[in-house]
Amino acid sequence: MTKALYADIILPLAVRGRFTYEVPPDIAPRLKPGMRVSIPFGRSSIYTGIISSIHNNKPPYKKIRSVSCLLDKTPSVSEIQLKLWSWISEYYMCSEGEVMKAAVPPGMSDDSYRPRLDTFISLSQKYSEEELTVLLDSLGKAPRQQELLIRYLDLAEYGTGNEAPELKKSSLLSKPAGAQAALDSLLKKGILASMQKEVSRLSASDAGQGPLKELSGAQRSVYEEINDLFIKKDIVLLHGVTSSGKTEIYIHLIDEQLRKGKQVLYMLPEIALTTQIIERLKRNFGAQTGIYHSRLGDQERVEIWNKVSGADSSGSYNLVLGVRSSVFLPFSDLGLVIIDEEHDGSYKQHDPAPRYHARDTAIMLAALHGAKTILGSASPSLESYGNASSGKYGLSVLRERYGHVNLPEIVLANTREAYKRKLMVSHFTPELLHAIDNALGRGEQVILFQNRRGFSPYIECSECGWIPTCVQCAVNLTYHKSVGKLVCHYCGYSTGLPSKCGNCGSTGMATRGFGTEKIEDEIKIVFPSARVERMDQDTTRSKNAFNRIIKAFEEKRIDILIGTQMISKGLDFENLTVVGVLNADNLLHYPDFRSHERSFQMLEQVSGRAGRRSRQGRVVIQTSDPSNRIIRLVLRHDFEGMFRMQMEERKAFNYPPYSRLIRINIKHRDRSALNNFSELIGNELRKQFGKRVLGPESPLISQVQSYYIKTILIKIERDKAPARAKQLISEVIERIEAEKGASTLRIAVDVDPY
Ligand code: ADP
Ligand code: ZN
Ligand code: ZN
Repeated sequence: MTKALYADIILPLAVRGRFTYEVPPDIAPRLKPGMRVSIPFGRSSIYTGIISSIHNNKPPYKKIRSVSCLLDKTPSVSEIQLKLWSWISEYYMCSEGEVMKAAVPPGMSDDSYRPRLDTFISLSQKYSEEELTVLLDSLGKAPRQQELLIRYLDLAEYGTGNEAPELKKSSLLSKPAGAQAALDSLLKKGILASMQKEVSRLSASDAGQGPLKELSGAQRSVYEEINDLFIKKDIVLLHGVTSSGKTEIYIHLIDEQLRKGKQVLYMLPEIALTTQIIERLKRNFGAQTGIYHSRLGDQERVEIWNKVSGADSSGSYNLVLGVRSSVFLPFSDLGLVIIDEEHDGSYKQHDPAPRYHARDTAIMLAALHGAKTILGSASPSLESYGNASSGKYGLSVLRERYGHVNLPEIVLANTREAYKRKLMVSHFTPELLHAIDNALGRGEQVILFQNRRGFSPYIECSECGWIPTCVQCAVNLTYHKSVGKLVCHYCGYSTGLPSKCGNCGSTGMATRGFGTEKIEDEIKIVFPSARVERMDQDTTRSKNAFNRIIKAFEEKRIDILIGTQMISKGLDFENLTVVGVLNADNLLHYPDFRSHERSFQMLEQVSGRAGRRSRQGRVVIQTSDPSNRIIRLVLRHDFEGMFRMQMEERKAFNYPPYSRLIRINIKHRDRSALNNFSELIGNELRKQFGKRVLGPESPLISQVQSYYIKTILIKIERDKAPARAKQLISEVIERIEAEKGASTLRIAVDVDPY
């Protein structure tokens, strides 16, 4: 008699623990870890799960169910991926199912390769500039048609060399209502033409495999040093000042790997950045380059998944440029992982679980493949620089900008003084206005950075001080002028602008503070002839918005670009010489132990956008506190100074990298129940961890979406293995969750919180 076979199955659920099913004999010979199966679950649900292991150990429960059917011929998920998932679930204290949910595109199904037909629209013939003008005029009586034709010309970037480009009908029609009728008319008149074509879901990549740029002497020695360090170390930190040509060095390292037939993962913290760097990569590596980010549709994600795993016979991606979730792609033979801007906080996922740090997870991924890792930054994280100083990582330093351009000159503008002496024009100091004016006069471009979107962070009654707040969060509502609404940035709640104070009835509601929208409005008043655009979450909701704005700026069709942290990282514009930081104070005064490190990095990054080619850039930082120690360090681009100063503080107060942090976020709709439970959790944890437990405390935002919030922080010594501590924490949480009344309690654990 053959022994019964069982399979442990990962299900897309937050529940920790194993789900073991019996494997029917007809499936058994074909079953492998990593394959997808359908299984019955609960009373009447059918789930798709992934086999994590196959064994003969009968589970200890009475009713053992069977796998219903096998969905794959070959594993969808590789063994390395399964190992990575298991590591993530243990390290970040979540279920493998939660990792699966984050990793596997929901659209994965066997028929995703059926060819897809799409309708495309193009001009029916080539028109000259004059012909088009006449055509547009002739549509004057049909404004909808005129509008649609203009939209076509805009989207198709008509006039940039492309004669009658084809556009997907869906992208053309997505905006104005009634566009279908207008399109029908334009087709009937023979102005536009329509056709059906088979498409890849991914935009076709240009074939080009251009020659690599020759490295400068300094770059070449760093490149060689990195390769030397890789003989002994798996991880190298490349600390190169902004515009030193780190990207060019990566490109040479990538080229070497691709020639060896290896794959490369190149991670960036920000979608906006991927749109610029992908161009540079495609120039060198053509169609084997894929791009992966959260704006892709499910089907596009599936297509990339299959091109990375090699399951797609039509082509494969050996180089992937992606944001944090690209660490989950099914690489088969990874040789190198590049983590650019490695210090960046956006690599950490906050919500939902898995609350993973993509840099640290990518390092693990590389280790599982036996691949090398490069961490790159102009202002490395204390963690990584610490690891490089201690010899755990290799360190390679590039101190000069490419082409010997000087680092930008940084000027401080004292806003307190300027207000006192009535020199401020709106929110601009004379120093900033002067710098902008000079740049515009020379035909150069300007970036203005303000880390707040919207018009004003809050509005206030000038009589009694009443401030409208969110109905379900403990936050002030931000005023968005373009939509005429007050919006909660935590839950998305919005409401009209009140005409009267909700407290005293006075009509004197005034805007307070400023966000990007207000800066845009006011800079247009000061420089009426400048072409001004804004790049933040509100102006980049559509899929191609990043591309459009970045291209327009590259092509000098924008003079002044205003934006949030989206514009502060990694972007490379040759004609940009002046950067203005509207308000450094709110960066510096954020209550978090990392805020000084972060402000330094942010200011160094945003400054680094200026003057990258020939002329030295100029950065104006507006602050009410020009003697601030961090600001003084930024002035001198003194990273080492910042590192030493911050490490001393971290040591004194036992913060990372001298300790590990685990934060427990506790939420409940009822304030007193929350207080009771969080006290209880705190006390239970103190029994295990004593003084290492801090809190419970109310966080800065103490209520979100009707849930009250408390946090508990646990500091664990660096030299202690964290696995035991995590187990104790899990046990405490499980005990509390089993208590009476705890069913509506929400507890989330955040390991290495950011
Ligand atoms: P970083 O990534 O360090 O900020 P980049 O790689 O973006 O720097 O380089 C800054 C600019 O200098 C880019 O426009 C890049 O194309 C150019 N550059 C850097 N190295 C070279 C090189 N070896 N040859 C030609 N151009 C280079
Ligand atoms: Zn809210
Ligand atoms: Zn009032």
